[in-house]
Amino acid sequence: MKIASLLKTGRPFYSLEFFPPPDASQWPDFFGIVDSLRVLRPAFVSVTYGAGGGSHDKTLAITRALTAMGLVTMPHLTCLGASEESVRTFLDHLEDAGVENVLALRGDPPQDPALRQREGRFCHASDLVRFIRSEFSSFSIGVAAYLTPHPESASFAQDRLATKIKLEAGADFAVSQLVFDPREYFEYIDQMRALGVDKPILPGVLPIQSLESLRRILALSGCNIPAKLYLAVEEAHRTGGPQAVQEAGIAYASGQIRRLLDGGAPGIHLYTLNRTDVCLRVAAAAGIPG
Ligand SMILES: Cc1cc2nc3c(=O)[nH]c(=O)nc-3n(C[C@H](O)[C@H](O)[C@H](O)COP(=O)(O)OP(=O)(O)OC[C@H]3O[C@@H](n4cnc5c(N)ncnc54)[C@H](O)[C@@H]3O)c2cc1C
Repeated sequence: MKIASLLKTGRPFYSLEFFPPPDASQWPDFFGIVDSLRVLRPAFVSVTYGAGGGSHDKTLAITRALTAMGLVTMPHLTCLGASEESVRTFLDHLEDAGVENVLALRGDPPQDPALRQREGRFCHASDLVRFIRSEFSSFSIGVAAYLTPHPESASFAQDRLATKIKLEAGADFAVSQLVFDPREYFEYIDQMRALGVDKPILPGVLPIQSLESLRRILALSGCNIPAKLYLAVEEAHRTGGPQAVQEAGIAYASGQIRRLLDGGAPGIHLYTLNRTDVCLRVAAAAGIPG
């Protein structure tokens, strides 16, 4: 099933993002987690792709296994520093496995400045989108969108323009980084519509699971969080510990999901962090769309 077709139905849905467990011994538990989340009837599941190509094989193996479980899958694929040949091989494997969707990303530049100098075929995600469209035309292609502009973007306007360029290069839809304030999402949609972009943009929702993981994720992603929410999480941690943070996170995420869907978001891309309990409780509180 192509995600582009699914988005045309107009029915709201959950999609679920997973990361490949680092160790193969964790895979049976991981597939158990995915299985238990099927109760949310995910429209599709996505599988992240390690920066620098580290988990290239794992992404492929996990995607194959999830496709064999009957799920609609969307592996992520980064292209910075990758050769055309390696990208082509990855996409060939996906096609052979019956995968019809891919999230086309540039990826982060390597930490090592020597590696940063390396010439590559792909400079931006839009280069990858064009490549996939020209050689694997049947794929449904997603790209990343940033409510808080990407750290390398010079301005909000330049950031929105870069996303417009990759959507117009042949992507079908975008998935946003974490949304903590639904108003920011709707404002972003208005900005993109004003630029003439009418393709679907899915909001990404992360149920806050602990203060430590929230801090780590904010540092990595660079996205904004309302100060009031952050202070509430800190206060919950101070007075009630990790359990109180989790309860507050579930209440907040379920409220956010309702506001996003009520406001017309096409669906919710849930950053699961490979956790069952929290996601099921969030969905139970928010209701299963569709
Ligand atoms: C939903 C989502 C999923 C992600 N999954 C992964 C993952 O699995 N693995 C991983 O390693 N990373 C992942 N990332 C992170 C992503 O790889 C980084 O944010 C990366 O630094 C940028 O990737 P991009 O595809 O957005 O790049 P691009 O769209 O190429 O943008 C990168 C920067 O270049 C600018 N730019 C883009 N096009 C142009 C142009 N034509 N001219 C001038 N400037 C331009 C943009 O404004 C931006 O500042 C994900 C991000 C999101 C939002």
